[in-house]
Amino acid sequence: MAEATTPSNFIRDIVREHNRTGRFGGRVVTRFPPEPNGYLHIGHAKAIWIDFGLAREFGGRCHLRFDDTNPTKESQEYVDAIMRDIRWLGFDWGEHLYHASDYFERLYEWAEALIGKGLAYVDDLTPDEIREHRGTLTAPGRPSPCRDRSVAENLDLFRRMRAGEFPDGSKTLRAKIDMASPNINLRDPVMYRIRKATHQRTGDAWCIYPMYDWAHGQSDSIEGVTHSICTLEYEDHRPLYDWYLDALGIYHPQQIEFARLNLSHTIMSKRKLLALVEQGRVSGWDDPRMPTLAGLRRRGYTPEAIRDLCERVGVAKADNVVELGHLEHCLREDLNRRAERRMAVLRPLRLVIENYPEGRVEELEAVNNPEDPAAGTRKVPFSRVLHIEEDDFRDPAPPKYFRLSPGAEVRLRYAYIVKCTGVERDAAGRVAAVRATYDPDSRGGDARGRKVKGTIHWVSAAHAVDAEVRLYDTLFSVPRPDEAEDVMSVLNPASLDVLAGAKVEPALADVPAESRFQFERQGYFCADWRDHRPGRPVFNRAVGLRDTWAKIERAGGG
Ligand code: ATP
Ligand code: MG
Repeated sequence: MAEATTPSNFIRDIVREHNRTGRFGGRVVTRFPPEPNGYLHIGHAKAIWIDFGLAREFGGRCHLRFDDTNPTKESQEYVDAIMRDIRWLGFDWGEHLYHASDYFERLYEWAEALIGKGLAYVDDLTPDEIREHRGTLTAPGRPSPCRDRSVAENLDLFRRMRAGEFPDGSKTLRAKIDMASPNINLRDPVMYRIRKATHQRTGDAWCIYPMYDWAHGQSDSIEGVTHSICTLEYEDHRPLYDWYLDALGIYHPQQIEFARLNLSHTIMSKRKLLALVEQGRVSGWDDPRMPTLAGLRRRGYTPEAIRDLCERVGVAKADNVVELGHLEHCLREDLNRRAERRMAVLRPLRLVIENYPEGRVEELEAVNNPEDPAAGTRKVPFSRVLHIEEDDFRDPAPPKYFRLSPGAEVRLRYAYIVKCTGVERDAAGRVAAVRATYDPDSRGGDARGRKVKGTIHWVSAAHAVDAEVRLYDTLFSVPRPDEAEDVMSVLNPASLDVLAGAKVEPALADVPAESRFQFERQGYFCADWRDHRPGRPVFNRAVGLRDTWAKIERAGGG
């Protein structure tokens, strides 16, 4: 079914071709192989969407395999966060949870087998010397003096490496391939290094750890993976992937490369993201300004919006940068359909309605979501003293200002038309309150057919709930932070604006963390998953309402 109807991309085409020729007997087994050395980011979401999505589409399965081959940088915190974030994105590995470390013993046996075939040797060169012997793109490499050790000597040394007889960095096991190969990855790549570090799963059982290239293809093979999909930078590693499998003579999956997802105004390198966290430039991996899935989630992004972006940008072979506006557009489209509307005043200013009786409260009906009639309505209390947005009053009014100013009329959303009669100022001359009268016949609609140009939102002062609202701008002030010599130098100093004195309508008092709303005229907001408490709401603005991307798309540019 899916095969006939879904739009194509080159990976789908390859899988269909394999299914047609019967290369893997019609099976589709993929894997997502994160290294647990940081949190997942939106680039990973792309890989997850491809790996799990293809398996789902073709009735196969996708494994989650932790590439836990570097104990010094990995941790259980990262493992837990990765699993949580993949599930949040809407994918599941079922019973197929694996670790490269599950295969350490098998990989070790295979390494001995390669030594036995004369295809691997123990080298005494230091990492620096190995690099120096490797040559360059234009100059061939030079063989290590250890390259022609006998099988027996290599086996003995390798066993003693495993037994912990040698210090870190003093020896490696290398594949014996071709020091003159035009592909530097084939110039006797390192298979094992000594690292006397405790591993989060295998403890102190090992002091030699396999390199990514040695672990990856063999792990794929053990698991019966059919399509090992990875990003473009592994294209030059594919000959090595193939060489190991062929040298061992074991089942051979197909590696396929696609272009990474890059996003404007942010970075994807886990090393640099970790630096932001460690230097306290953000509050953590899940800071709502981070491009991590945890950060996007906390900010208010939905898994649907992120999957939608993946689908829209497609799968390519050439590197590109997705504009942040495109991601925001996907979120607005999703939340416009689903998020209920509420009124929240971010920077409150008192509005006193002189002719509205003291002590009177009306419960006015407000539409929850004009895009979704099933969302129904709610009651919003209205009374004599309201809060309106500071911005919605100006004295004097600039040209074309259709909100409140002395003598001007405006509609209060879901309520009455009011006319500004004056202002109260404090000793310093600042506006302390706005005064107005209301037209009792104008409730809900425009009863007498009078036109007022502006409509503003409000909350009843006596009923409003105090809230903290956090507004965000991009974490970096330039579209391509990676091009800066030091990404820290292009951080946006105004990326966070905390409004501690916001007033929100009572319906927002007890909403659960992570619930999302459109605050009328202000954007889409999400109750913060860390700091939000019933009765003490904290909201993050996920995105504003103005959608520049929609225009580009309509014009055919998106
Ligand atoms: P590092 O920055 O440490 O090299 P990484 O981002 O490659 O790490 P991994 O944990 O090795 O992180 O990535 C897991 C998988 O996600 C890999 O298959 C990788 O190709 C893929 N991936 C990583 N970044 C992106 C990206 N920006 N776009 C698409 N896929 C990505
Ligand atoms: Mg990687």
